[in-house]
This record gives sequence, C-alpha cells and structure tokens, in this order.
Amino acid sequence: MKERTLLLLKPDALHRGLIGAIISRFENKGFKVVGLKMIHITKELSKEHYSHLVSKPFYADLEKFMTLEPVVAMVVEGKEAVDVVRLIVGPTNASKAEGGTIRGDFSNSTSRNVIHASDSKETAVKEIARFFKPTELFDYKLSSEHYLYASDE
Ligand code: UDP
Ligand code: MG
Repeated sequence: MKERTLLLLKPDALHRGLIGAIISRFENKGFKVVGLKMIHITKELSKEHYSHLVSKPFYADLEKFMTLEPVVAMVVEGKEAVDVVRLIVGPTNASKAEGGTIRGDFSNSTSRNVIHASDSKETAVKEIARFFKPTELFDYKLSSEHYLYASDE
C-alpha cells in the first residue's frame, strides 16, 4: 500500500555533497518526492525527534552534530515506503551495512551515517507532522507512475 515516510539528509551528507546522489536512490526506486526543504534543527527539536535516545551517553554528540549545520528534510511516497526506504538506507551502524545501501556505500560510522529514515508507519506519521506543515506536502502524479507498480498495489 502507498505510504509516506520522513527522511533527513544529515549534516555529513551536505558536507560531502551527497544530496543529489542520495535523493536519486529514492527516485530510481520509484518513490515520489512529495516534500523537500533545507532546515536548521534546534536543540529542542533534536530532543523531541530523538526522545528515545536523550538518556544515552552519545546523545550530546548526536545533538551537536544534528544542530550545528543544516539538514535536508524530505518526504517520499510510494508502495510500502516505510520498510522499503529503511532497506535502501541500511542499518544504523554503517560498518555493518551492505554495499548497495546508502549507509553501506557512503558511511563507515554508527553516528555519522548520512541519513535518517522513519522506522515504522506510526513513527512516520509523527515525524512527517514534526517536520512538515500540510501545505508543504504536495500531491502530483509522476508521468511514469503506472509503470512502477500495478494500481492495486
Ligand atoms: N547514534 C549514535 N550512536 C549509537 C547509536 C545511534 O550516534 O550508538 C545516532 C546515529 O546517528 C543514529 C541516530 O543516533 O542514526 C538515531 O539512532 P537510531 O537507533 O534511531 O538509529 P536509526 O533509526 O537512525 O538507524
Ligand atoms: Mg531511528
């Protein structure tokens, strides 16, 4: 079924000039970009977004990393977007990520792992609302859409 999920291209992706290369991975797979912007994450927003990690010893480093420089926030839409996007992204520890995944190809780190992706349908709904106003999300049709998957998928 068609779903939407939230992605953040982290500051290391921007530093390294990987915005286009990363977005291409999702376009090539057939996902539609329905929201896209560059933002600065505040400390407050970082604590909300990473609320499951604020008590971890690495949180201070994570917050500094995510708030010092801008990130690219995006929402993609497509069939089983949440799970398929996580597969394309690869596991948190990029050292263990297979080649062909974004983290496997562009990182060798658990912290500087270039991209965030929502980890469940429920999280995706919350994270999209956290980063995008309804007016910042767009509905349009890809001209190739009917080639990508059957209409009942
Ligand atoms: N992180 C870290 N050290 C760790 C685990 C996580 O610096 O030992 C950072 C890393 O940037 C990771 C983010 O915290 O992407 C969020 O962690 P989570 O477990 O939610 O992983 P993700 O969903 O990003 O794969
Ligand atoms: Mg996570």
